[in-house]
Formats: sequence, structure tokens, C-alpha cells
Amino acid sequence: MSKIRPLFSIPTAPLIPVLGLQEGFPIHRIFCVGRNYAAHAAELGNTVDRVAPFYFTKPPTGLVIEGCTIAYPPGTEDYHHEIELVIAIGAPAFRVSTEEAMKSVFGYAVGLDMTRRDLQNAMKEKQRPWDISKAFEESAVIGPITPASEFAPDAQRISLLVNGSLRQEGHLNEMVWTVPEMISHLSRYYHLTPGDLIFTGTPSGVGALQPGDRLAGAVEGLTPIVVTIGPAA
Ligand code: MN
Repeated sequence: MSKIRPLFSIPTAPLIPVLGLQEGFPIHRIFCVGRNYAAHAAELGNTVDRVAPFYFTKPPTGLVIEGCTIAYPPGTEDYHHEIELVIAIGAPAFRVSTEEAMKSVFGYAVGLDMTRRDLQNAMKEKQRPWDISKAFEESAVIGPITPASEFAPDAQRISLLVNGSLRQEGHLNEMVWTVPEMISHLSRYYHLTPGDLIFTGTPSGVGALQPGDRLAGAVEGLTPIVVTIGPAA
């Protein structure tokens, strides 16, 4: 059998740095949780669904490591920041209970779920999928991963500054769905594997960005992130 070669090269997802390790964390999938802070759900005119969390996804190749400049994306006039805690999965999890769920956590990082809000609102209105508003190039930013042995989600402060001004602020214990609840629920629908990331939703204060804006995101106890918005792509 002849060896098959690729016709061309394609973008690959970056490796995420891990505190204290030489190796990087490879990315399999990016899951994102919607409306996980009541105050943020309210600011977008939504109510929180306490029956079950819901999800959308982003392409792994749309993820960038913090410390860079990302282009203001095409097709939007309302490009928003969403600061989030990110869970990095490091062991298989399928139909796990909330008690078992934490065994699958490799670590945690600070991330940004970048959103074309005008396109999201248009899709919501027509009851169409959100992909065009959430899954695009450079639509997710992440910082180095802190191993789970060194961080336990509790009531840590999560915040985002834009050009030095506080825009978003909350605490992890305000999340509607806890970390084990999200993993347990998602594991009913997917065979979670090492390399999966879960963006856990954003606190209130989301807002529009302009080229040149400098974002500084933090979760108390994790490595903070910085990113600059570049000119329109
Ligand atoms: Mn989000």
C-alpha cells in the first residue's frame, strides 16, 4: 500500500504551556458553557436555565495563547470580550458522576471567549446556530495551565480590565453550574478525553472592543493573561 501524503498543510492548534512542565497541553476540542452567571444572563436579556447547562463549541485552531495581538475579526461591529475560567481535561470521562468528575481534571487556566455579539443576537432572533458569532479565527484566548493539584475552584475573583479599567468582575462561586456538575453533564453526551477544554461562562460586564484595546484578565490563583486587539482583519 502506498504511503498517503497531505495535499497541503493546514493550521494546527497551539500547545498550551503548563506551569512546572516542559511539555505543552495538546488541544482536542473546545466546549463552552452558556449563561453560567445569572448577572451576565440578565445583562443580555436572558434567564438562567437551572434544569441543565447548554454548550457551544469553537475550533481548536481558533485558540491562541495569551501575550499576543489578535485581529479585530471581519463581519462585526460589536466584538465582545468574555473572561472565563477554563477547565483542562486530562483523563477520560464518560457518564461520570459529580463525585468522579474531578478525577478527570488536569488543571485550570484563564481564558477569553471572544464573541461577535451583533451576529449572535441576529442568530438568536432567527433561532439559528451561533457558530458564526462564536467559532472563528482567534476566537479563544488562553493562558498557561495551572495543575489541579495547585488550584481548587471556590470563591476566587475573576476579572477583566480593558485599557486599565475594570469591565468584568465576579466570583467563581457565582457560577450556576459547578465544575463537577459541568463535567458530569457534558460526559453524558461526549466521551471527554485528555485535551478537551471547557470554557465555563462569563460574569457580567461584557462589552464592545476597538482596535488597540489592551485586555488583562485574571482569576485569583491562576496565571493572568494579556491580549491586544489589532487592526481589522
Ligand atoms: Mn462565554
